[in-house]
Amino acid sequence: MPTSSVIFLLVLLFAISMFAYSAQRLVRYLRIGTGGDWRLNDLPRRLQNFLSIGIAQTKILRDPVAGPVHAFVFWGFLVLQLGAVEIIIQGLKPGFTFGDVLPAPLYGLFVLSQEGTAGAVLLAVGFLLYRRIVIKPRRLQGDNVHSGDAIFILSLIAGLMVTLILVAAGDRIVAPHHPMALQPVSTPVALALGWMGPGAAQAMRDMAWWAHALLIFAFLNYLPYSKHLHVIVSLPNTFLSNTSGPGTVGVMKAMDLEQETEVFGASDVTHLSWKSLLDGYACTECGRCTSVCPANLTGKALSPRKIVIDTRQRLWEVAPAIVGGADVFGQPMIGTASGDTAVLDRKLLDNYITEDELWACTSCRACVYECPVSIDQLSIINEMRRNLVLTESRFPEEVLPAFEAMERNGSPWAFQPAERAKWAEGMDIPTMAELFERGERPDILFWVGCMGSFDDRAKKTTVAFARILQAAGIRFGILGQEETCNGDPARRMGNEYLYQMLAKQAIETLDRYETTTVVTSCPHCFHQVGNEFPQLGGNYEVIHHSTYIERLLADGRVPLKSDDGQRLVMAYHDSCYLGRYNEVYDAPRETLRRALPVVQLVEAPRARDRGLCCGAGGGRMWMEERVGERINVERKKELLATGAEAIAVACPFCMTMLGDAGKKLESTVPVYDIAEVVADRLA
Ligand code: SF4
Ligand code: SF4
Repeated sequence: MPTSSVIFLLVLLFAISMFAYSAQRLVRYLRIGTGGDWRLNDLPRRLQNFLSIGIAQTKILRDPVAGPVHAFVFWGFLVLQLGAVEIIIQGLKPGFTFGDVLPAPLYGLFVLSQEGTAGAVLLAVGFLLYRRIVIKPRRLQGDNVHSGDAIFILSLIAGLMVTLILVAAGDRIVAPHHPMALQPVSTPVALALGWMGPGAAQAMRDMAWWAHALLIFAFLNYLPYSKHLHVIVSLPNTFLSNTSGPGTVGVMKAMDLEQETEVFGASDVTHLSWKSLLDGYACTECGRCTSVCPANLTGKALSPRKIVIDTRQRLWEVAPAIVGGADVFGQPMIGTASGDTAVLDRKLLDNYITEDELWACTSCRACVYECPVSIDQLSIINEMRRNLVLTESRFPEEVLPAFEAMERNGSPWAFQPAERAKWAEGMDIPTMAELFERGERPDILFWVGCMGSFDDRAKKTTVAFARILQAAGIRFGILGQEETCNGDPARRMGNEYLYQMLAKQAIETLDRYETTTVVTSCPHCFHQVGNEFPQLGGNYEVIHHSTYIERLLADGRVPLKSDDGQRLVMAYHDSCYLGRYNEVYDAPRETLRRALPVVQLVEAPRARDRGLCCGAGGGRMWMEERVGERINVERKKELLATGAEAIAVACPFCMTMLGDAGKKLESTVPVYDIAEVVADRLA
């Protein structure tokens, strides 16, 4: 073996050993999180996420400017891996090219792919550097993002591309092997350097080759210590993401309250799952999550990007002290500080993430949806809220009455169960108890929900939906006084004890009436009963009223008035728990369209999966909004700017929030539930 190859082999082995050392260190850090949940279920869906979000970069491409450039750098990175393999083989066997083993046309294609990609990536990196250094978009500022790190990595990539092109140009000056068409980038460079003699060109080529190889090794070994760790972790992260299928998206982690532990939820990284810690490795710090967060947009302390970066920083702070010991080489871990009590005494909660940040979250899932590498910021927030409530009894004081009312009255408001079915007086609607007594079984159980039962405005929606069901001849029953809150607000506010108490009670009631199909006009009830009750053994087909009405209209079962020439321009506001949690976007719109010709739909700029939250989710309905602009006002302004004459919703929470915002803005534009729009058209 020539001396140069021996030197190369030694450098290669050193680089691989260093990388292996760093990689095992990172894996050991992940293991300080909670285990289990290896996420190998639902493989087809996981593979689909991997291919669409990971490889095809569908989430990245949602940003029309930086998206395609980033995607191109990623795809270029994949293509150039083949070139890196050729370089490594060349180091061990000088003079080797893939041309030695590939048919000429295929090798030509390889040469062209490397040349074209290197040139295009160089341009893309130039654009990204310009954007970061000169334009400085707001999305890339704040939250202690590692801008210097990003500039360093982009410079490394640029160095890799330049040296690759110089190698090809040097080869071309010494002895052109390929037609010019296959080397569109290095040919002009070779022409520009044509004044070099073959000896000087060979020396330049060899230097560029070594620089390129060393940059590959430097890049590889820098990644584990950089935010660009995502280059390695983002693909597995998309495969392992929570978004593994309909009905499981946004479902909160099951919690065993019987376990022997002094800590419920998470106050530090050791209480978070290994997947939440892996999310920290995968974060690109792009800020897409924060740029769509309604809390952040309206001036609150919360930034989902900061939640993830803080989690990673805390992991890197405390993990060496916990892991300690020796690594696979029998050497002390880098940064080992076993017994470092100052570090161990700190926590993720309070030292990194404050209570105010956690309580500002509306659980809208906009951050999770937007993240290009499928990070679940919300699951960290939810676990930390659980810790605040269950372990530390720390929560906003205004939440206490809601907790007490749920415990005492089975509703987050201080209404008595006897008042639950007052809305139905005179409507001849049977309760499930009455139906069972008569030996009858309904087609569906109408789950009314607490707002639909007690809130004066929401009761109008309840009545409207019941009228539609009656007009369509649907046999349905309600639980009446036996209905209780399903516990969703308690769960979202971190009170899992209260949630499980209420949910088990509701499941018992539903099971007593042999319930199979539930229809509800509340997206929070829809999500909770349909997607989260199975954790506690409650399994029912749950349909949101938007889908149910749309089916009835499609089947021609709802008698509507004929066209009276009236026209109403309407904007539909997406509920987060219907849209991003359950992907129901079309049914409410289709319901409105089928009520045509009354309705003409217009869309707000942020609609469907980009819809801006009304501000009520995650228990925010029961909390004061003391900081910044009000989220509901922000949303209402956007909806009013469409010029709509009326706003349609499919959620009693959205109805209240947008109604309140209307009063603040002194707007006369009414807000209707889609059921009201249809009921108004009943023949
Ligand atoms: S769930 Fe919504 S409110 Fe909460 S952090 Fe994410 S984007 Fe912000
Ligand atoms: S969590 Fe996702 S969207 Fe947010 S900064 Fe990190 S990579 Fe970007």
